Formats: sequence, C-alpha cells, structure tokens
Amino acid sequence: MTKLPRLIVATRNAHKTGEIRAMLEGRYEVVDVTGFEGLPEIEETGVTFLENARLKALGISRLVEGWVLSDDSGLEVDALGGAPGVWSSSYGGEEGNHALSIERLLREMAGQEDRRARFRCTMVLARGGVEEANFEGTVEGVLVDEVRGAGGFGYDPLFVPEGYGETFSELPGEVKNSLSHRGRALAKVVGWLGEMGG
Ligand code: IMP
Repeated sequence: MTKLPRLIVATRNAHKTGEIRAMLEGRYEVVDVTGFEGLPEIEETGVTFLENARLKALGISRLVEGWVLSDDSGLEVDALGGAPGVWSSSYGGEEGNHALSIERLLREMAGQEDRRARFRCTMVLARGGVEEANFEGTVEGVLVDEVRGAGGFGYDPLFVPEGYGETFSELPGEVKNSLSHRGRALAKVVGWLGEMGG
C-alpha cells in the first residue's frame, strides 16, 4: 500500500478532526496537534475567521514538518446581527462548553421570527510558517427552537440546512459533510492540493 500524504490539522477539537478525517479517507493521513508533544495552545485573538485561521496555521506550521491545515468556524445568526460568529465556542460563557452555548442561543432566539443563520468555515493551508492559500465554505439554514438529534457537535442540534427538514445532528454524518461549511471549504483545499501535486 502506498503511503498517504500527511495533513496536520491545527486543532484540539476531536469533532473537527473526525469530520476532516472522514472526508479525506483514503487520500490523506489526517492527524491533529494532539498527536504531537509540547505544541503550544494558540490564542485566538483575531476578530475574523481568517485572522484566527491564520494564527493557528502559521503558529503550528512553524513547529512541525509538512502541510498544516487550520479550521476556524462558527455560526452567524441574522436576528443577532451575526453573533455568535468568531466567538461561537465561548458564547455560553465557557470556552468549548456547547451545552451552555446552545442554552444561550435558545434564550436569545426565543420568540424570534427571523430564524435565518449560516455556518462559516475558513481554512488556511501553511507550511514552514508561510501561508500557502486560504479557503471558505458556507452553509445557509434556519434555527429550530429546541434541541433535535444526537449527532455532530456544537450548534448542530439547532441548525437545519437549506433544502432539508432535519438538523445537522439528525442527518447522517456523510450528509452533513457533503453540504457543510467545513465540507465545502475542504473540497477547495483538496482541489488546490491536487493541482499542486500533493
Ligand atoms: P473555533 O474552534 O474557534 O473555530 O470555534 C468553532 C465553534 O463554532 C465550535 O466550537 C462550535 O461552537 C461552532 N461550530 C463550528 N463548526 C460547527 C459545526 O460543524 N457544527 C456545529 N457547530 C460548529
């Protein structure tokens, strides 16, 4: 069996790594920063997805050999002026606590008629501390008013993508990946790497 090219995802979020690994199965060996000892926590001090994606990709790619891919993503809600946006993972008051974030979102959206929202994902590919390219993916949808389904992560139990009746948590993982912000950004990454011969 030929050895697959390795892609290092600049994240400690096992859900992101899992989705990216599933989408690249058979094409890339996907590892994340949890597989390396001593890598620092990159502080996400940017105010846009691109700024944060750059911080992560550049920060990690200075310290490891090979292609590094970062993913900065989040949910934008029209009725909330685009919040939680880049602050999606700490919206509930505690970084990475999705139950609290969902609770807050349900509270803020109670009685709200405009349910439109979108997930955005920006990915940066870097090597040796240099940004090689960046990519975006978006998926439009609406928010439901109660948690539905057990799959996925983050705001998935509240988000129904355009053209579907189920939330991302209710849909099979392959369906989410085929239309998600992450899946769309990653398809562009794969196309770009293919053109580069890697
Ligand atoms: P990041 O790690 O700073 O990019 O924050 C990403 C946050 O956005 C996650 O912690 C979730 O709250 C939210 N998010 C991003 N992608 C998804 C997804 O595919 N489903 C649900 N929530 C997501």
